Amino acid sequence: MRTDEWLNQRFQSILRAHFYDVELVNPVDINYGIRARRRLGSIALVNGRSVIRINRLLAEDIVPQYVVDATIGHEMSHYVHGFGSTLSRKFKHAHRGSVVDIEMDSRGMQEIRLQASAWVRENWGTFYVDECDDLSAKKDLRDSRRQLCWEMWLAQCDRRSIAEIEARQVALLRQLKTSVAADYRMDWLVAGPRHTALSYFYDNEGVLRFHGLLADRKISDAVVDFEIAYWQVRHQVGADWSKIRKFMLQHGLESTLVEAVAWRQRVWSVFRKHHVDEVFQIAEQC
Ligand SMILES: [Zn+2]
Repeated sequence: MRTDEWLNQRFQSILRAHFYDVELVNPVDINYGIRARRRLGSIALVNGRSVIRINRLLAEDIVPQYVVDATIGHEMSHYVHGFGSTLSRKFKHAHRGSVVDIEMDSRGMQEIRLQASAWVRENWGTFYVDECDDLSAKKDLRDSRRQLCWEMWLAQCDRRSIAEIEARQVALLRQLKTSVAADYRMDWLVAGPRHTALSYFYDNEGVLRFHGLLADRKISDAVVDFEIAYWQVRHQVGADWSKIRKFMLQHGLESTLVEAVAWRQRVWSVFRKHHVDEVFQIAEQC
C-alpha cells in the first residue's frame, strides 16, 4: 500500500520534472479520497488552498505508478488553467477541446498519459470489481431497491402511463407535421438524486427515458408534451436550442413551450427534491 507520504513524494517529483515553471500562487495539498468507480482524481479550491484528491484505489501497488503520475499531471494541468486554483482561468470549460491532454503533452507527459490511459482502458473494470466487490454489491442492492421503489410508486393509481405518453407523441408528431417516425422507444427512468433533468435520451439503447415523477398528474400535460417534442425536434434539427425553439414556435407549440420552460425554471427543482424522497420512502413503509 502506498502511503500519504509516498503520494506526496510523487507529487513533488512531478512538480519538479513537469511543472517547475508554475508558480504555486496558492498552496496545494494532495491526499487520497474515496474509492471511486470512475474518477481517478479531482482538484478543488477550498479556503484558498487547492486540494487534489486521488482515488484511494490508486494506493494499491498493483496500479502502475505512471497511472498515479498521470493523474497528478492531469490535476495540475487544471491548476495551471485556473480550475481549482486562484490562477486566472484560461478556458471556459475544464476539459473541452482536450485542453488537459494538450497541456500534459506540452509538459513532456504524453508518454505517461498514453500509458496510463491504456492501462485504465484495459484493466480498470476488472480491477475495480476485484477491489470493490463490497462496493459493487452495495450499489447493486441500492439499484434494485431504487427500481422497486419506482415500480411501486408508478403502480399507484392514477399515474400517467407510458402508453399515454406514446399517444401524446402520436398527436405531437402530427402537429409537428413530421413524417419522421420516432424510431426510439420510451420508458421511465429509474431516477436517483443525480438525475436532475426531466428526460434523458440514451443513444446506444435507442430509448428516451422520462423522470418517473412525470407520471405524477400534478405536473401538467404541457410539461410532458414539451419533453416529447423537444427530443423529436432535436432529432430533426440538431441540438442547437435556438433552432429547436424556432421549430417548435413555427409549429404552434408556443404555449406548451412557454408553460413548460417556466415550470421547469420555477418549480421543477423544488418539486423533484420534495417528491423523490417520497418515492424512496415507499419501500420502507411496506
Ligand atoms: Zn479533469
